[in-house]
Amino acid sequence: MKKHNFSAGPCVLPQEVLQKASQAVLDLDHSGLSLIEISHRSKAFVDIMEKARALALELLGLEGKGYKALFLQGGASTQFLMVALNLLEKRAGYLNTGTWANKAINEAKIYDDIYEVASSKEANYNYIPKGYDIPEEYDYFHCTSNNTIFGTQIKAFPDSPIPMVCDMSSDIFSRTLDFSKFGIIYAGAQKNMGPAGTTLVVVKEDILGKVSRKIPSMMDYKKHIGSGSMFNTPPVFAVYTSMLTLEWLKNLGGIAAIEEENEKKARLIYSEIDLNPLFKGFAVKEDRSIMNATFTLENENLKETFETMLKEAGINGLNGHRSVGGYRASMYNALSLDSVKVLVEVMSELESKA
Ligand SMILES: *Cc1c(COP(=O)(O)O)cnc(C)c1O
Repeated sequence: MKKHNFSAGPCVLPQEVLQKASQAVLDLDHSGLSLIEISHRSKAFVDIMEKARALALELLGLEGKGYKALFLQGGASTQFLMVALNLLEKRAGYLNTGTWANKAINEAKIYDDIYEVASSKEANYNYIPKGYDIPEEYDYFHCTSNNTIFGTQIKAFPDSPIPMVCDMSSDIFSRTLDFSKFGIIYAGAQKNMGPAGTTLVVVKEDILGKVSRKIPSMMDYKKHIGSGSMFNTPPVFAVYTSMLTLEWLKNLGGIAAIEEENEKKARLIYSEIDLNPLFKGFAVKEDRSIMNATFTLENENLKETFETMLKEAGINGLNGHRSVGGYRASMYNALSLDSVKVLVEVMSELESKA
């Protein structure tokens, strides 16, 4: 039986995408060849790459606005340093909202000075700082749209006077935003798009080429743009599967349609967390993530019963990250409302048993 998969990443993908991807590994479009044994320079694969790049821009509403989409390797973690290498000349401003933001800051510090415009560290990152200034003399401003570990999410982005760079690894394609506010958006595929192994990077071309340092080829956005995201052998399976997920999303009605579903799922879980006296939400209400709901069980004595009930209901991946403890329900695009209903039933059943 298929489990209800609340895993934080890698995580649930649409069943039809898994089926099509498996089929393509055996035989790509009746070609008699596997997706993973054809040349990445073949027309079949170049078409797949181009389709994936075009779909990403189309879904984000960024076609014809000077942006390029790239499918790179090295995970979002490589973007932490690539952003700095390509944009950091003197100083950059970073918003510190948790573990991933810190990792981005630490990588950028290798190259130059970093200024933390604001931080919620003193509260173990249970909220999103607001009302900070972004100095216009800096090279760029970096933020993390959704803090996967702490379950907080930026609801209103600042009007940045300098290019705004955003790590959207755990909420890309989940909600409508004015994506043209951003200079660079990046996201590891393994949370809302596909398998681990590729990272989507959407770059506004005119912000590049302004640093004086030499950039190693594999780290240079311009080189990747110039070679059509094929500077070297791309991760063909991850790109193909991501393309299938983007196609799935487009057929559903795009980001606006999935956003409605995501909001229903989030409302359902948060109302249970708020109404059920056994549970307590971690993030402050106004900054709660619609992707990752973090909460704790107030009565430790019920832990074993709760976890047995979760297991019996076929619920997978609910354990919280060690820096928060408790539980985390990750409700990415492909997780159904029904799965959230099953979880909420278990939570309310626990209350009736307690
Ligand atoms: C998971 C995650 C990452 C790390 O991605 P990798 O692809 O493993 O490097 C970075 N940022 C955020 C917000 C994440 O959720």
